[in-house]
Amino acid sequence: MTQKTIIEKVLKILENHPLCGNCLGRLFGGLGRGLTNEERGKALKILALMEIHRRLIEDWENTRKKALKILENIGDLAKPLYQQYFLKELAPKTCSICGKRSLNNLIEKYAKESVEVLRTLDARTFIVGVKKGSNIEAREEEIIRKYDLKYYESIRNEIKREVGKKIQQLANIPVDFTKPDIVLLIDLENNKVDPIIMPLYVKGRYWKKGRMISQSIWILRNGKKKYLLSIEETLQEIAKILQGERAILHASGREDVDARMLGTGRPMIVEVVKPKRRRVSLKELEEAVNKVSPYVEVRLEGEAERKDVRLIKMEKAKTTKVYKALIIVDKELEENDLRKIEEFFKDKTILQQTPRRVLHRRPNVTRQKKVYSVKTRRITKNVFEALIRCEGGLYVKELVSGDQGRTKPSFSDILEASARCIELDVVSVQL
Ligand SMILES: [Zn+2]
Repeated sequence: MTQKTIIEKVLKILENHPLCGNCLGRLFGGLGRGLTNEERGKALKILALMEIHRRLIEDWENTRKKALKILENIGDLAKPLYQQYFLKELAPKTCSICGKRSLNNLIEKYAKESVEVLRTLDARTFIVGVKKGSNIEAREEEIIRKYDLKYYESIRNEIKREVGKKIQQLANIPVDFTKPDIVLLIDLENNKVDPIIMPLYVKGRYWKKGRMISQSIWILRNGKKKYLLSIEETLQEIAKILQGERAILHASGREDVDARMLGTGRPMIVEVVKPKRRRVSLKELEEAVNKVSPYVEVRLEGEAERKDVRLIKMEKAKTTKVYKALIIVDKELEENDLRKIEEFFKDKTILQQTPRRVLHRRPNVTRQKKVYSVKTRRITKNVFEALIRCEGGLYVKELVSGDQGRTKPSFSDILEASARCIELDVVSVQL
């Protein structure tokens, strides 16, 4: 079925389908600029009406059957002409695509519901989506196929755009296509708006001033916590204030449970899942977290984005770290021993097989990591302190002990005696 001009197509469609202005206009939505689909639909209906009028005047006998159907399908705009030629009241029909609900009413309804939702959820930005697979969409696709239409806009697209516009008028909340607070998913089939609450990300740093504190919450098989406190638990205060489900910690690497994190603190991003509050000052969140335990402190620096989480995880490998280690040695230390350590571990490449203590959860690989410098200080005859500046990802306890030959070279190798790290602190994490 091919019709050359728009009017031929329009008449063919209106002969078989009653359509509201919006839906008719949308079938030709790619034509003309600066028009709404409603304006397009009205223009097409007026043109169709005029063409039918001409045919009725010129050839009543051959035109009247088709004209009756087309005028009925045009609806309100055709009332006077219909009355004049067919001597009866035109009964309005429901639109073949949007049905009884009428697109304009739907857009209005979804926009109002959306504004309500956005306010309840403290949204600063949003986008609108429309679920696929509704009956309305199927009816529209059938007409597009049947009449071989090329310049249509989809109903999902029109609803997305128009509801978005209306919300901005009603509530003055801007659209954000890349990182909206809320995705408003319109469900045409069930006639409702489903909000998807996007996470809120906050970047900052944490300090761990005590030992035996894990980074994330560590739950044992019996349901009990392995450690009394974790950094992630203290961050749940943020989730509470923002009325979210929970807070997830994304950090740039992690220290051992028995190591402290001092000095510069460790960069992190806190992800709050499904927050219902967003306009809260960082100061308030920070204070709430810092009240939980004297051993954990955080500083919040600002809002972050999803992509920052990936970045902070990637940076892990590229960080430079400074550790402070307290080391006990199986012999009496001579002045020369510590000098040897400092001289030997200047820009030294270390070959490190995955330590035995983490083999149960990490693949067994050999990696190369750099030690940039070591500074030492003797404490007693067989205990010394070392400041070790090295590449992120180096296992420092094993650098000291040698891990039965799995880390080479090690402090034990150079001292020619067994050395062991008894206390470890991270004092600097530089991105
Ligand atoms: Zn319609």
